Order: sequence, then C-alpha cells, then structure tokens
Amino acid sequence: MSAPAIVVVGAGPAGVAAACRAAGCGRRVVLLDDNPAPGGQIWRGDRQQRWLARLADSGVEVRCGTTVSGLELPGATTILATGARELFLPFPGWTSPGVTGAGGLQALIKSGFSIAGKRVVVAGSGLLLPAVASLVRKSGGSVVLIAEQTSAMNMAAFAAALLSRPEKLAQSAEAALSLLGVPYFTRCVVESFDGGRVRLRRGNAIFECDTDYLASGFGLVPNTELAALLGCRLLAGAVEVDEFQQTTVAGVYAAGELTGIGGVEKSLVEGEIAGLAAAGAVDEARALFGRSRRARRFSAALNRAFALDGGLRALPRDETLVCRCEDVSHSRLKGLASWRQAKLHTRCGMGPCQGRVCAAAAQFLYGWNDQSPRPPVFPVPAGLLADPGSFEGEPT
Ligand SMILES: Cc1cc2nc3c(=O)[nH]c(=O)nc-3n(C[C@H](O)[C@H](O)[C@H](O)COP(=O)(O)OP(=O)(O)OC[C@H]3O[C@@H](n4cnc5c(N)ncnc54)[C@H](O)[C@@H]3O)c2cc1C
Repeated sequence: MSAPAIVVVGAGPAGVAAACRAAGCGRRVVLLDDNPAPGGQIWRGDRQQRWLARLADSGVEVRCGTTVSGLELPGATTILATGARELFLPFPGWTSPGVTGAGGLQALIKSGFSIAGKRVVVAGSGLLLPAVASLVRKSGGSVVLIAEQTSAMNMAAFAAALLSRPEKLAQSAEAALSLLGVPYFTRCVVESFDGGRVRLRRGNAIFECDTDYLASGFGLVPNTELAALLGCRLLAGAVEVDEFQQTTVAGVYAAGELTGIGGVEKSLVEGEIAGLAAAGAVDEARALFGRSRRARRFSAALNRAFALDGGLRALPRDETLVCRCEDVSHSRLKGLASWRQAKLHTRCGMGPCQGRVCAAAAQFLYGWNDQSPRPPVFPVPAGLLADPGSFEGEPT
C-alpha cells in the first residue's frame, strides 16, 4: 500500500518549499490555500518566482481557493504553513475611509488598485512600512512620511545585526535608496485620523499633515488557530517546534511565520526542513539546520528592534472601536478581566472576522491570553456545518 498523502496547509514560501521538498522525496503531497493562486503574502501573483515554477513541475496537487476552517488530528502527516496577518492597533479614526492596513494597501496595489498621484502616510512598525512606502512610490503615489513607533537606538542595534548578513544589508540599502527624500520618523505614532488629516506625535511634539491614505500596521501576528485546534503548544504567540519543525503533536509540522515572525528566508528554510522531515529524509533536513539557525537569529533581532512600546496602549480613546465587526468600544472592554468575559458581555470577536482583527489588539491592549479558538476558524456555509461529508476531495 502506498504511503498516505502529506497535507500542507498554506501555499506561501514555507508551504511551497515544504510541498516541493516532500514531493521530491517521492511522496504524494496535497497543498491547500485559500487564495486563488499559490505565493502567500510576498509572491502574490509573481509568476517569475523560481519556487513557484518549481512547484508547477513538482507533481504536488495544488488546491487553491480552499479554506481550512477546522482540523481534527488527521491520519495523514500534516504541515501547517499558515503564515501571519497584520496587527492593527485602534486609534481614533482607524475605521474611517482612507485608512488601510500597511500590508492591506500593498495587496491592493499588487492587485491593480491605482495609487498614482495620491498622498500616503505609512505608519506603525516594522520592515513592512518601508516595503509598502517603496511600492507606493514605484506605483506613482507620493509618500508624505513614514512614522515608525520604535526608537532610533533600537533601529541602530538592528542595523548592527544586519552587518553579519550581507544579503540583508544589500536589500536594506536598496530599500533606503528607493525612499530617498521621504521623512522616516522614529518614536512617531498616529494619534488620530479625521477626514484626510493625520495627527501624529513624535516624542513630545504633536504635528499634523494632510493625506489621501493612511496605511497603518504594527507588525505581524502568526496565524496559529489551526495549530491550536490540533493541540500544538504555543510559545509567545507562535507554534513551538523542534529543529525538524515537528510540533508538540506527533505527525504535525509547522513552518514559516507561524513559528515566529522572521521573513521570507526563514519561511523557506523551515518549509524545506518540514517537507524533508515529514517525508522521512532526516539527513537532508539536518543539513539545513545551520541556515535555519541563522534565520532564527535574524528573526530574534527583528523582533527585539520592533517590539511594541507600552505607550501604544494609550492610543484608543473611550469611544474608539476595538471590535469593528460588533461595534465594541474601548470603554466597554477596558474594565473586563478576560477575552472570554469580553465575548460574553459585549460580543467582541464574535462577528464575521471571528476575532482575527480585534483579538490580537485586545491581547496587546488588555493583556488577555485566554483566546482558545474553536472551529470553524473562518465563516463557512451553514450547509457545510450540517453535512461536513458534502465536502469533496478529502485527501486520503
Ligand atoms: C500583509 C503582509 C504583507 C507582507 N509583505 C511583505 C513584503 O512586502 N516583503 C517581505 O519581505 N515580507 C512581507 N511580508 C512577510 C511575508 O509574509 C513573509 O516573509 C513570508 O511570505 C511568509 O511566508 P509564509 O509561507 O510563512 O506565510 P504566508 O506568505 O503568509 O503564506 C501563508 C498562506 O497560508 C494561507 N492560509 C492561512 N490560513 C489558511 C487556512 N486556514 N486555509 C487555507 N489557507 C490558509 C494564506 O492565505 C497564505 O497564502 C508580509 C506579510 C503580510 C502579512
């Protein structure tokens, strides 16, 4: 009897690398992703990408447009590569027209939205901000300024860490060149947005500027829901894995942003290791440990540099919405003791996004750590809940 399929959830860099390496070992591999095409966040629609070309020739069964809303402990070996999403922190005006996520604006532009001739303020934290600003410029928009919440000292420490990674240094220099003339303010946060006017605080100074769009994102949050449903242990908001990317649940591997935010190189090498290990090629997997350790050191430096300042908890005013699906304001949440209490008393996190936006914000704002997800983690048609057997094509 042939070995059962290896199921990979998520077709970003980590999932694509995992699927290709497992298929290269002669295993049948099924790759599932909710997007219309593989590539994840960074390779969205990039047909030139060499890993995507490799995937096309790999024999992997790719099923795009497939959302995995729940998982039970499967018979098949499973590799989770569900990536990360943006962290939105609420401030007055964050739900107004004209305000998007930083990565959200990037995705819009990549899918054809015209930004030509528009002014954009890019704010929040992390390496996504310069990447988005650079894309806005290349697409004919003008970047008013970049507001980064971390300090110049943290940025300097990060730059020093880059010295040991020449390829990263070259990428950063290229990004800096593409942003020549754009003000990049550290210790700078958006206090409010109102009808195209942004109010910012830089240290103790307050200033305002006009813009067409405000793109705001405070880093990334791993998509751990499916891993948590399977019982995998989490550590500091990410899935805990060993050097072979094996989680604490036998037969379940995890790779990429899901195991800690660290960028595309980390996702690729972890995906390769997970695919090889899941297919039983442990010596080949072990040969990649050095690359994986280097990627994790970079990830640690990144997370130290852009750690969120506690002062950001003062951003929302009483009337500021935290849960925009159910219209729940900061004043209704701030006295509560837990996420569970918030759900029971206010319906916070119980709307269409199922807490995918507000839960991470609430965790940061109020320190609630009791967010155990329940299936379905994404909304599904009622008919599917009534008759899960109607779901076609279950891999065996
Ligand atoms: C909005 C955004 C923009 C980014 N832009 C950049 C950038 O410009 N430059 C850069 O260097 N890095 C960027 N990053 C970081 C980048 O995502 C990572 O470096 C890299 O792509 C991570 O690869 P991954 O495979 O771990 O995850 P991802 O690329 O996020 O891939 C995960 C995939 O899993 C799918 N998925 C998740 N859950 C499910 C589910 N339940 N069912 C089915 N499919 C599922 C997702 O749709 C996605 O396609 C961005 C991240 C985000 C969130």
